[in-house]
Amino acid sequence: MTNGGGLMMGNCGCDRRGFFGHAFGCGAWVAIALTAGTATARQSQARTLTDPVVTSAFARIEKLADGVWAVISTPFAPDGGRGDRTTLSNGGIIAGRDGVLVVEGFNTPAGGAWLSDQALALTGRRPTHVVATHYHLDHVGGLSGFRRGADGPELLMTAQTGALSAQRNGLPRPVEGSPFAKAAPVLLPTLIVPEGEAVLDLGGRTVRLVARTGHTDSDVTVELDDPRVIFGGDLLWNGIFPNYVDADPVKLSAAVRAVLADPATLVVPGHGSLSNAADLSPYLGVLDAVEAAARRAHAAGMTVEKAASAFTLPPGLGAWTLFSAGFYTNAFKAWYRVLG
Ligand SMILES: [Zn+2]
Repeated sequence: MTNGGGLMMGNCGCDRRGFFGHAFGCGAWVAIALTAGTATARQSQARTLTDPVVTSAFARIEKLADGVWAVISTPFAPDGGRGDRTTLSNGGIIAGRDGVLVVEGFNTPAGGAWLSDQALALTGRRPTHVVATHYHLDHVGGLSGFRRGADGPELLMTAQTGALSAQRNGLPRPVEGSPFAKAAPVLLPTLIVPEGEAVLDLGGRTVRLVARTGHTDSDVTVELDDPRVIFGGDLLWNGIFPNYVDADPVKLSAAVRAVLADPATLVVPGHGSLSNAADLSPYLGVLDAVEAAARRAHAAGMTVEKAASAFTLPPGLGAWTLFSAGFYTNAFKAWYRVLG
């Protein structure tokens, strides 16, 4: 079934309008096939796994396969302090014959516009679709930068991410403890990513969008099967201590184990450098160390603040940079929410 937007839905039995209204009733699998010539179709941080094809002051782009690139942001200055946060989060570019998907909206409109230019340079066309893995501003704050006048890519999010973004991202910045300083226009999704799993067919390249929870109430991982690549959003961190501000740490731990189950998977974390799943085991160690310390502190009746200030990561896990000192406190707060 096609519609004016040129999108064809499979399995769902609904057109695009119906997709908005019935995303949760469409079953676990919804195929989205793009047709050519449509309105939409017109249009730590030092370690690299591959030689970057692009390097800027705030990010580099590494090629993972034909038509697949990772965007690795480099938000820390050489001394470890605050660097250029134009993009801030990681993401990616996935190109097929009929469409180009960008993973993440990035931190600022300038970051989004830069990504749009990079997609054009690398693939020959501007993004037709941008998927935001969750509502945090460093993943959606730059969405407006992908627009060019009245034209712009389809914006894909879960319904929950759209609702959370509308609710939380209208707040004045900065929020206490947040490393994300910018106020940004809030753009809502134009296509809803359903619960469960959806398939986006870009033409010779299919992408699975998997709805999960843990980092926030609604996270999406973007997954390729050949080669096996996962863009993990902020469920996955590498060398940068994770942000627990909205986390459910029990769900987070389960989601991370599921995402990293295949050790050969190439992983693009939400923050930090590229990794194979097997080499990201220190991240599981970080999550487990936080859990063990939080459970001990909670059982001993310690306050969150005291527990966080006493916490250090086991040295065997390597170096984990902190975006801000409050990140340990947020981690213990998250566990105390669970432990009661
Ligand atoms: Zn996040």
